[in-house]
Amino acid sequence: MPVIELLESMEKACNSHYHNQSLLLLLPLFLSLLVAGLAYPTQDEQSQIISRFQQYLQINTTQPSPDYQSSTQFLLSQANSLSLESQVIEFVKGKPVILLKWPGSDLSLPSILLNSHMDVVPFEPSKWTHPPLGAYIDEGGNIFGRGSQDMKSVGMQYLEAIRRLKLSGFQPKRSLYLSFVPDEEIGGYDGAKKLAYSDVFKDMNVEIVLDEGLPSTDENYRLFYAETAPWWLVIKSNGAPGHGAKLYDNSAMENLLKSIESISRFRASQFDLLF
Ligand SMILES: [Zn+2]
Repeated sequence: MPVIELLESMEKACNSHYHNQSLLLLLPLFLSLLVAGLAYPTQDEQSQIISRFQQYLQINTTQPSPDYQSSTQFLLSQANSLSLESQVIEFVKGKPVILLKWPGSDLSLPSILLNSHMDVVPFEPSKWTHPPLGAYIDEGGNIFGRGSQDMKSVGMQYLEAIRRLKLSGFQPKRSLYLSFVPDEEIGGYDGAKKLAYSDVFKDMNVEIVLDEGLPSTDENYRLFYAETAPWWLVIKSNGAPGHGAKLYDNSAMENLLKSIESISRFRASQFDLLF
C-alpha cells in the first residue's frame, strides 16, 4: 500500500536527522502518492474537487485587505465535512490562523504539520486573460485565478488527500495538523511566526512540517534546495567634500549613484531573464 508505506517513510524521516533534505522530497511525494494509492476519484468526485478549489479561489484574500471571514468560514466548512477538529486562533485581532487536526491513533508520537497560507498577492485585472478571482476553467482544463498556484492549490490538495484517505478508512498513527495562515505574503509575522512561538504549537509536538513549494503544470515536480534570499550590501562611497558652491567632480554622492545605477542594470538583466 503506497499510502501506508509513504506515511511510514515519513515517520522514519521524522525519527532521523536528515529532516531538511527529506522535507523537499516528501512534499510532492506526499501529495501525489497519498492520493495515488487510493481508488481514483470518479468523474463526479473530480468535478466536486475542482469546484471546491474554485470556491476557495473566488474568495478575495488579496493583500492588503483579505476577506479572512469568508476564507475562515470556507475552511471550517471543509473541516466539518471531513470531521476534523478545528480552531480559529487570532494571535493578532482580525488575522486568524485556522488550525485543523486529524488525531492519530498513537498520541505519544510526534505529529505532522501541513502548512499553507490563505492570502494572495495583488493583481492588475487588465493584465489577466480572465478575471483573477473568477476561477475560470478553459477547454484545456486550465484554471485561472490568483492563488491557483500560490498557494490555495496546495491547501486544497492537503484537504482532498485527507478526504481520499478518510474514504478509504485509513487511520494515521501520528496526528496530522493543517495550518492555514493569514499573512505570508506580507512577512508572516502575525500568523506563522506567532504560531511557531506559541504554547499551542508546543503542545502540537510537531516533528515534520511540509510547506510551500512550486506547483507544476504537468506530472514533473521541480525540487529546490534554496529560493530567493536577501542580499545585503554595504556601499562605502568616497569623494571630495566641500562647499556646495564648488560643485566638485567625483563627490561621494556622484560615486554612490554609479553603484546604484549598476545595481539597477543588474536588476533589469535578471528581470529580462525571468520574463
Ligand atoms: Zn506563497
